[in-house]
Amino acid sequence: MLNIGCHLSVSKGFEFMGKQALELGGNTFQFFTRNPRGGKAKEIDKNDTDALIKLMKENNFAKILAHAPYTLNPCSKDERTREFALEAMTDDLNRMEYLPYNMYNFHPGSHVGQGVEKGIELIAEHLNKVLHKDMTTTVLLETMAGKGSEVGSRFEELMAIIDRTELSDKMGVCLDTCHVFDGGYDIKDNLDGVLEEFDKIIGIDRLKAIHLNDSKNPLGSHKDRHEKIGEGYIGLDAFRTIVTHPAIKELPCFLETPNELDGYAKEIALLKSF
Ligand code: FE
Ligand code: FE
Ligand code: ZN
Repeated sequence: MLNIGCHLSVSKGFEFMGKQALELGGNTFQFFTRNPRGGKAKEIDKNDTDALIKLMKENNFAKILAHAPYTLNPCSKDERTREFALEAMTDDLNRMEYLPYNMYNFHPGSHVGQGVEKGIELIAEHLNKVLHKDMTTTVLLETMAGKGSEVGSRFEELMAIIDRTELSDKMGVCLDTCHVFDGGYDIKDNLDGVLEEFDKIIGIDRLKAIHLNDSKNPLGSHKDRHEKIGEGYIGLDAFRTIVTHPAIKELPCFLETPNELDGYAKEIALLKSF
């Protein structure tokens, strides 16, 4: 059975999101660790995280995925911004240990004119400060669309970061279907080829999660505008192939499509029907 869920709001707590995921027909979910534009995270209530752990066990949940705030940029030119990235991610990873053995996803960052090489170097430096050997969370680099000066739109860039990370056994990759398509990887007509390339460059074992989003723009557009499943340039047939692909069908998949909850429920049902 497909492991699927969608992005949910953390505002009513962790157990609430677990119940919501079930109501929507899913068995996992994604949430922002704090306001996506930055700011302080809410205190963790251990009763609440324990209740979610219990609910997840009882309902055969797949791993859940925490998403770092968008403002987190470990390869910014500005030192204060890099400091914020360090503080926020260190705090997030400490909090994740209330929900052990799950996953944490972040956008590698934008190098803002410093060049990809410098960007990769700063991101790896950042990871070497925040990862520690006792943590149980797997940290995922998200594949990016290549908008502006984003690092991570090429598999080679993601691997270069992982290669420079000392505790690389803590690292994985989250493949965002909209982002890779916008980045020029043709998952619509050549999914096998793209996954072979991923395997050759990064290693398929590093693939830990999928963001399922259609794209408002054509292949290689570098735009990053998500569309509802089947209503964009990737199209429904491709999503059927994606969620049933042997390299993907066991992984937790997360919808980040422009939807309210009822729209998510419909997409979850549709994708499960494949
Ligand atoms: Fe993301
Ligand atoms: Fe995404
Ligand atoms: Zn996106």
